[in-house]
Amino acid sequence: MSYDEKTMAAARIEYRERVRRFEERERIRAEGLLARSPRLRETERELTGLSLKLARAALSGSPGEVGKIREKAEELHAGEEEILRGMGEERDALRPRAYCPVCEGSGETGKGPCACLLKVYEEKLLQRYARYLGDQSFENFDFEVYSDIVNPYYHAEPRGIAEFVFDQCAEYARRFRPGEGGGLYLHGGCGVGKSFLAASVAREVIRNGWFAHYLSAIGFFALAEKERFGRLSEEENADWEDAFAADLLILDDLGCEPASAQNAPLLYRLLGERAALRRGTVLVSTLTKEEIAARYSPAVESRISGSLADLLLIGEDLRKAGENA
Ligand SMILES: [Zn+2]
Repeated sequence: MSYDEKTMAAARIEYRERVRRFEERERIRAEGLLARSPRLRETERELTGLSLKLARAALSGSPGEVGKIREKAEELHAGEEEILRGMGEERDALRPRAYCPVCEGSGETGKGPCACLLKVYEEKLLQRYARYLGDQSFENFDFEVYSDIVNPYYHAEPRGIAEFVFDQCAEYARRFRPGEGGGLYLHGGCGVGKSFLAASVAREVIRNGWFAHYLSAIGFFALAEKERFGRLSEEENADWEDAFAADLLILDDLGCEPASAQNAPLLYRLLGERAALRRGTVLVSTLTKEEIAARYSPAVESRISGSLADLLLIGEDLRKAGENA
């Protein structure tokens, strides 16, 4: 499994803070119980004293003494449990619980990050892309906004097409695994729900524990321009490198960027590197394949056709209806 290092580093800091706060709450909880019952506090004090005595007795090698102390400690433990029961608490209510029973709050198992740490990592990734993801998810996709009247040009209902494209996207996101390559070419008119579905794919892939990176085409080409002149900030540099390195890249609004002679070779390189490393790519565009060939190059078009599944959405501009856009 691959992780975005920067996000993982931030997740570890947040994780340690959560464990610290949890342990603090546990300490306060136990302290609260002791404050409620002087008898309980006294028993605890005696138990602490006994464990010191026990250590000393064990060191001086007096088995008879050790046995006696153990007996006394058991008695005290039983008394403590009874007091706690009387207070309506669990018998082990004074013992601090672990933040996570699997890794005991270390965040690590022998086989890599623990699920409890990965949960924080996932939250951090969703936060990083919150502005783009908004509340867009497969659960919130609304089919009602698509017409069920046959479109004479495509000989199909926009709603039926939307259902098909939705299923393809949801299936792609569900089955997504790093290293399998491929991806989607999601195209159609303005505001027909392409970006909504692409964001839904990203959210699902992140939820499943993989690294999905989002960039608009305008953003990507602007980063490329800065990179050429060595002017990327640290954050921009991460965005740039992640475009090539992320398990999944969503490149939104392809064709909306200002035209430049640099764009075709750059896009060709991006798609080529991602395909060679078998990384997933979702392109979102209003351009048809013919327009892609004309705007960039036939080579870019054939790279897209060769590796990405073609999905066309049709319909009215849903942004006018305020939905799925
Ligand atoms: Zn854990």
